[in-house]
Amino acid sequence: MGLAIDHVSKQYGDFQALSDIHFTVPPGALLTLLGPSGCGKSTLLRIIAGFVGATGGRVLLDGVDVADVPPFLRETAMVFQNYALFPHMTVLENVMFGLKMRKVPKAAARDRAMQSLEMVKLTHLADRVPAQLSGGQQQRAALARALVTDPKILLLDEPFGALDKNLREEMQTELRKLQQRVGVTTVCVTHDQQEAMAISDYVAVMNHGRLEQFGAPLEIYDTPRSRFVSTFIGNSNVLQARVAESDGRWCRVELADGTFARVAQRGAASIGQQTEIAVRPGAMRALPPGVEARNDEAFVLQGRVGYGVNLGNVVHYEVEVPTFGILMVELPRSQSDDPWRLGESIRLVAAVGDCVMLEH
Ligand code: ATP
Repeated sequence: MGLAIDHVSKQYGDFQALSDIHFTVPPGALLTLLGPSGCGKSTLLRIIAGFVGATGGRVLLDGVDVADVPPFLRETAMVFQNYALFPHMTVLENVMFGLKMRKVPKAAARDRAMQSLEMVKLTHLADRVPAQLSGGQQQRAALARALVTDPKILLLDEPFGALDKNLREEMQTELRKLQQRVGVTTVCVTHDQQEAMAISDYVAVMNHGRLEQFGAPLEIYDTPRSRFVSTFIGNSNVLQARVAESDGRWCRVELADGTFARVAQRGAASIGQQTEIAVRPGAMRALPPGVEARNDEAFVLQGRVGYGVNLGNVVHYEVEVPTFGILMVELPRSQSDDPWRLGESIRLVAAVGDCVMLEH
């Protein structure tokens, strides 16, 4: 089932929790709502489920406005962060519960519940109560309970929030495989950018009740539109600059230290306009002494190595650059046979294609 969020807003008294949220999700896709605490992710999820009403705008399921459709008739199913399993019921009874409410005959309900438990590899624990399950198993039981009613939209509120890192990553992979197999349109709330990158077809990045950016995970990672997105999804060095020349496709910008850089233009760019250039730490490298920057390198920044730490597969450096402060550089360990020394003077460069002009 396709989902469209059509200029949705939500006000709690004077407080604007959501402002003009607008995007569409094709059938069968997995969307994550990603943003810091309090940005409105759960509110939007609850509006889709029908537990909370929007102040403005519409939620469309397969093109139909569902404003007047109560939650239990929306064909959505929700998995809550704390799983909300009934503690006195067995796993099987928990999964059968939604079918019982729908008056499905007991034998058929049992068969369907067992199939659902099989999907999440939990049939062997069907007779246990939730307190006898690990966090990951409870999560699977909650997922089985949601999927058993064959929902058209699966809604997940921080589904892996209570799990430790390894289990979390394992469950992310399991959920994604299951979601692709079942083909259910899914909306998942998370504040974890790695999780969003790992499981999504689309990501809606939210901040202060606004949609900062919507797109495929890699598109958002490679071409963030704002400083917020460029630093919330992965790390970025953000350089202040001013547009000096523009031919509509390329801009020559004057960086805040008076040097110049060349970047692909994004959005409208008028001469003299302030802008910002985002560069990932992994896109930076040092120019060897005596070597000139190539044409496809955007800038040369003179700096001094302030700190270095080997993280296993990469070496992370902080480089102090006048005007810009500390810039982050990440080098693959394979390219770091000759480690940079503390206090060493280096010239940082990055390829033009790795520099992103932020739009706001
Ligand atoms: P978290 O990751 O911490 O769960 P979130 O992004 O899901 O955060 P929401 O729960 O959607 O955020 O809340 C968004 C904002 O709306 C918050 O500032 C919250 O305090 C406020 N809010 C949520 N529900 C209500 C309510 N019933 N009445 C008033 N304000 C509310």
